[in-house]
Amino acid sequence: MHSFEATNYYFDLAARRLDLSKNMRTLLVTPERDLVVEVAIELDSGEIGNFLGYRVQHDNARGPFKGGLRYHPHVDHDEARSLASLMTWKTAVVDLPFGGAKGGINCDPAKLSRGELERLTRKFIEKIHDFIGPDKDIPAPDMGTDSQVMAWIMNEYAKYEGFHPAVVTGKPVELHGSPGREAATGYGVMLVTREALARLNQSIAGTRFAIQGYGNVGAHAARFIRAQGGHILAVSDAYGAVFNPEGLDLDALDQHVAASRKVVGFKGGEPGTNEQLLTMDVDVLIPAALGGVFDAALAGAVRARLIVEGANSPTWPEADEVFERRNIVVVPDILANAGGVIVSYFEWVQNLQHFRWTLDQVRREQEIRMTEAFQKVYDLAQRKGISMRTAAFMIGISRVGRARILSGI
Ligand code: NAD
Repeated sequence: MHSFEATNYYFDLAARRLDLSKNMRTLLVTPERDLVVEVAIELDSGEIGNFLGYRVQHDNARGPFKGGLRYHPHVDHDEARSLASLMTWKTAVVDLPFGGAKGGINCDPAKLSRGELERLTRKFIEKIHDFIGPDKDIPAPDMGTDSQVMAWIMNEYAKYEGFHPAVVTGKPVELHGSPGREAATGYGVMLVTREALARLNQSIAGTRFAIQGYGNVGAHAARFIRAQGGHILAVSDAYGAVFNPEGLDLDALDQHVAASRKVVGFKGGEPGTNEQLLTMDVDVLIPAALGGVFDAALAGAVRARLIVEGANSPTWPEADEVFERRNIVVVPDILANAGGVIVSYFEWVQNLQHFRWTLDQVRREQEIRMTEAFQKVYDLAQRKGISMRTAAFMIGISRVGRARILSGI
């Protein structure tokens, strides 16, 4: 099964419960626009580097397209379509006035110099600037991209269209970014974890966690969870994992990661593999790296009782069925990692108003949106006896479908 098929499988489960007609289903799953562009740049070596860039604009019934840009060797059309569709349901679940999009460039950013990354980004925007804009489509960071890449996008877009900071979110705070945006997805992961544990009569304090992926989402989630008294027993990245049954010292780990750019080799823990991390004896497991992590076999071996999907699409449908059968609660990606797009929305609003919010205000508003969305999804799941994923998809699909009907086909 490919990623877009997997997303559509989850869509179909919810659409059947909503009794959507076949025509409406087709309308809602088909992307509005698929862009593929060649991005050729001169590499530092003097050779020509050929890359492919993608932007899939899935649905804009509720507002401008919105979604991240990923720089990774796995980026392709199918993945972009899948992630763009997820963004449509995600912005609707947390009730933002946006649609869904996603894109990226098939490249390995770790093998590119800063100059090459800048040229790549600028060339990509040269190719797609007609299709993005504050009222059209607003990119944001995702795997392999960060606030620096967003700053280049804002600057390159201005060469064609003039000063429009709201064309992209996740920018540096010094360049029209929002306080709290960089940590927003990790903060949101902590908030929904707190809410989910509360429904199980537990709290973060004293609870044991393992986190796959120690990048933007994973590392920030770890810090917020630690601040609430949770014990982070293991974290990993693309190179391997580190374990400490007493809980990792995150300050020391962050110093190690800042120096070596890897968690492996950290002296305050034992080395191990990602597979060991995913099946270890913890209370909560947070996948915060790639998609497609859990298949049925791995799902059968997971020992955590709660999974909070910081990453997009970490769970194949076959694994989701296993989790359901085993009564492992899953807080789905379209709810769990929505903190990033929520604060992107706040950044967009601030840019349009030319008015800066404080970090306190951003965090307060994020908490209100995420806890309200969590409650709605949880209530529907309880009422209907369904998973939180199906409930979240049902809420998202209903809102987008209604907007489509009200606007006229
Ligand atoms: P990032 O590039 O900052 O970090 C990714 C981390 O995953 C790195 O530590 C990397 O080494 C690790 N990783 C990569 N391949 C791995 C593998 N095979 N096994 C284990 N670890 C691996 O990316 P990010 O922004 O933190 O995004 C992580 C996930 O969260 C993605 O699925 C992304 O779509 C999702 N997400 C991100 C945001 C955001 O605001 N950044 C918002 C919503 C969802």
